[in-house]
Amino acid sequence: DEADWSAFDDLDGGDGEQAAPPQPVLAVVGRPNVGKSTLVNRIIGRREAVVQDVPGVTRDRVAYDALWNGRKFTVVDTGGWEPDAVGLQASVAAQAELAMATADVILLVVDGSVGATSTEEAVAKALRRSKKPVILCASKVDDDRLMADIASLWSLGLGEPFPVSGLHGRGSGDLLDVILDRLPETPRDDFGSGRGGPRRVALVGKPNVGKSSLLNRLTGEDRSVVDSVAGTTVDPVDSLVELDGEVWRFVDTAGLRKRVKFSGGAEYYASLRTKSAIETAEVAVVLLDAHEPLAEQDLRVLTMVVESGRACVLAFNKWDLVDEDRRTEMVRELERGLVRVPWADKVNISALTGRAVHKLAPALRTALNSWDTRVPTGRLNQWLTELISATPPPVRGGKQPKVLFATQASTRPPTFVLFTTGFLEASYRRFIERRLREEFGFQGSPVRISVRVRE
Ligand code: GDP
Ligand code: GDP
Repeated sequence: DEADWSAFDDLDGGDGEQAAPPQPVLAVVGRPNVGKSTLVNRIIGRREAVVQDVPGVTRDRVAYDALWNGRKFTVVDTGGWEPDAVGLQASVAAQAELAMATADVILLVVDGSVGATSTEEAVAKALRRSKKPVILCASKVDDDRLMADIASLWSLGLGEPFPVSGLHGRGSGDLLDVILDRLPETPRDDFGSGRGGPRRVALVGKPNVGKSSLLNRLTGEDRSVVDSVAGTTVDPVDSLVELDGEVWRFVDTAGLRKRVKFSGGAEYYASLRTKSAIETAEVAVVLLDAHEPLAEQDLRVLTMVVESGRACVLAFNKWDLVDEDRRTEMVRELERGLVRVPWADKVNISALTGRAVHKLAPALRTALNSWDTRVPTGRLNQWLTELISATPPPVRGGKQPKVLFATQASTRPPTFVLFTTGFLEASYRRFIERRLREEFGFQGSPVRISVRVRE
């Protein structure tokens, strides 16, 4: 008879925090100048309107945190760019597509003083086919005079149009109530992982290792343009990046875009920022400079990632500068320097030339899958029983500790608890971890093992 271990499945491992619960996502779509940014600022509770007075400027697609009636959600402003007349329809369609891929609820903004154009009709058609809830809002309705015109928006087939004025705030409370009503309590199940919205990635590494360059490479946009726009008051926290057919949320990239340089205590702030990015993320890409020896700072970043329990991918950047000699040297260096993360995937990239950056997404996916993995308790114990009878724990003080059973207390990262009759040496715990990885994988994810001694 197989033992029933299910009662132990919900035990808390006791060490290590879980990642913060994911928030549901609202995506805002619409033509340029209909008032999306103004409305987004209103929703996230900012006073200043976004001044977007430079035509042709590429603004990022950005995500913000919003809070209404005690509920947190993420707002994604999908429409940052100013397409030419020909490209307009295509670019609004692209926004809608991104929204359908990433959001739990979509907000279509139509300029109430203009009404629905052919662009909105096309987008509405696409949105109607998606299974996502869509909220239609008529913007720039500053007073009652436009109310009669708003009714014509029913023709878009998206239900009741909600009038708002992002500028004055009129109707925005009612709109927020509707949004909250449609947002799921827990976000939709994405990639079968049980979380909603794009997976959260931290891009970390010492200064000048190439973080900004890589972000630019991944987004294919020249973000320095954004820096030079006067009056760009948005301080976006994250960037949405599409890689390998999937949208990812690169967290806390504002500093990378703005190239903030601190004067005093720079290193302290940089490290604080790194820590907070790692903690917000589910997986970290740790950038290392392939053509320089591993530095103390690199190891500090790695330690932060390991201690946070996040999944991790190592990216050796500036590979274009690496020659044969350096490669040999590196092999030795890595053996010593990276002993703590033998399980992390390594990719050799060049942000400058674009070499192998396409390998990042698959590595991220592998790492997150490992991070999410749950081993059924029955299978775990079957395997463990065999392992232990073949290689029992070393005798201590004349007594041999027995391993009674094990359970996976949590995922993210996978955390195991061994119940024993005595102390297990660290070397034996490492042995178990090694074998656990051989059996169940966990490539790219830390694994935690704790021991509970039963009296
Ligand atoms: P976006 O391109 O869709 O993000 O639009 P913006 O938010 O940048 O707004 C475009 C223009 O419309 C700006 O000049 C805003 O000041 C103006 N605008 C936005 N919301 C309102 C509103 O509620 N009432 C009025 N009268 N003007 C608005
Ligand atoms: P950050 O401080 O980590 O954001 O680093 P940056 O992206 O600002 O890059 C620092 C310097 O390294 C810049 O001069 C980049 O042009 C350069 N750089 C970044 N990636 C590469 C690369 O793959 N190869 C080479 N040769 N230089 C790079």
